[in-house]
Amino acid sequence: MSTTHKISILAGDGIGPEVMDASMLVLDAAAKKFSITLEKDSQLVGGAAIDATGSPLPEETVASCQASDAILFGSVGGPKWENLPPDQQPERGALLPLRKKFNLYANLRPGVCLPSLTHASPVKNELIPNGFDVLCVRELTGGIYFGQPKSISEVDGELVAIDTMVYKQSEIVRIAHIAFTAAMARDKRLCSVDKANVLQNSVLWRQTVIEVSKEYPEVELSHLYVDNAAMQLIKQPGSFDVIVTGNLFGDILSDEMAMISGSLGMLPSASLGNPKPVGTADDGADDRADDGASGEAGREECKPLYFGMYEPSGGSAPDIAGQGVANPIAQILSAAMMLRYSLGETAAADAIEAAVDKAIDSGLRTGDIFTGKEGETKVGTVAMAEAIADAI
Ligand code: NAD
Repeated sequence: MSTTHKISILAGDGIGPEVMDASMLVLDAAAKKFSITLEKDSQLVGGAAIDATGSPLPEETVASCQASDAILFGSVGGPKWENLPPDQQPERGALLPLRKKFNLYANLRPGVCLPSLTHASPVKNELIPNGFDVLCVRELTGGIYFGQPKSISEVDGELVAIDTMVYKQSEIVRIAHIAFTAAMARDKRLCSVDKANVLQNSVLWRQTVIEVSKEYPEVELSHLYVDNAAMQLIKQPGSFDVIVTGNLFGDILSDEMAMISGSLGMLPSASLGNPKPVGTADDGADDRADDGASGEAGREECKPLYFGMYEPSGGSAPDIAGQGVANPIAQILSAAMMLRYSLGETAAADAIEAAVDKAIDSGLRTGDIFTGKEGETKVGTVAMAEAIADAI
C-alpha cells in the first residue's frame, strides 16, 4: 500500500533554489525506489517572496504548509534585503513566524563528520579516527530567550539587565520524548546536558528527563554539566550519540558541533512540532521499511512522527550563489530527516544517507570540502546530487 505524502517546498534565496533543485533529484530517486508518492507544492518565501508579493511569508505559502505533512526549506536572506526594517527581513519575517505558527519547539541538529572528511575538522585527527555522528536536540521555544521579565532599567543609579530563565515541566517532558525517540532510532544513548549544580531550571530539567527515561528502558541515559559537555565535544565527539538540552545551551553546543564537523554545507537540521496522531502518514511505510529493499541493516523507525520543517544548518551563502558550486548535501540530508521524522519512510532515509556516504567515499567533493588530496574530484552542485541519486 502506498501513502501519498504532501510536502511544501520553500527554496528561498541565494543558494536555496540551487540546492533545493539538486535535492529533488535525490528525493525523486528515493521515492521511485521505495514506491513513495510525494505531492510537492513549491511556494515563495524570504526575499524572493518579498520581491514578488511584498511579504516574506505570503498567506499562500502558510496555507500550503498547513496542508502538508512537512516543510522542506532552503534558506532565506541576502544583501538585497538587509536594509529593510527588521520584522520585514527574510529571516525574521519568515523563519520565526513559521516556527511560531507550527509550534516547532524541538531543533534537531546533527553534527556529522564522515571518516573520509576528518581532515576538514579542526579537531585533532587522532581523536576522531572514525569521524563522528552526534545529534543535538535543542529545546527551541522556551528558556531564557523567552522568559519574562526581560528588561534593562536603572536601579540605584546604574543600569541593570534582567533575563529570566523559565521552563515548565511540560516543555521539558515533550522535548525529552523527542530526544528519546531519536535515540531509539539511533544508537540508544542519550546525554542530557544541564547546569544542575547551579540552576533551578536544570534541577527540574534533570529530574524530568530521568522521569521520562522510565518509558524508554532501552536507552542509556547520562548527564553532563554544560561546561563539561562543551569540553567533551572537542575531546571525544565520537563518544556521543544524542544530546538533549535547553534553548541557551543548545544554541551554543549545536554551533560548536557544526564547527567541529568541518563544513556547513554538509549539515541538515529539523525543527519539529507536535507528534502527529498515530496512523496518519506511516500506514504502509512499515511494509516498505521491513522489505529489506535498502539492502542495509538500517536504523530503527522513528515513532511517533512529527510535523516538521527541515533545512540546511547554513544560510543562503550569497558569496557563492548562482555559481552552481554550493554543496547540496545539507539540503539532501534535510530531505532524509524529513523522510525519517515526518513521513515514516525509514528505508528511504537510510538509503539517502548511505548514498551520501558512498558519493563522499568515491572522492567527489564540492568546493567547500575539496582539499586537493589524491583521490578527490571537484564537482559542482548538480554533479554531486546526480552521483548521490545514482547511488540510491
Ligand atoms: P551562510 O551560512 O550563508 O554562509 C557562511 C559560509 O558558509 C559562506 O562562506 C558560505 O559560502 C558557506 N556555505 C554555507 N552553505 C554552504 C553550502 N551549502 N555549500 C558551500 N558553502 C556553504 O552564513 P552568512 O554568510 O552569515 O549569511 C548569509 C545570508 O544567509 C544572510 O542573509 C543570513 O541572514 C542568511 N541566513 C539564513 C539562514 C536561514 O535561512 N535559515 C540561516 C543563516 C543565515
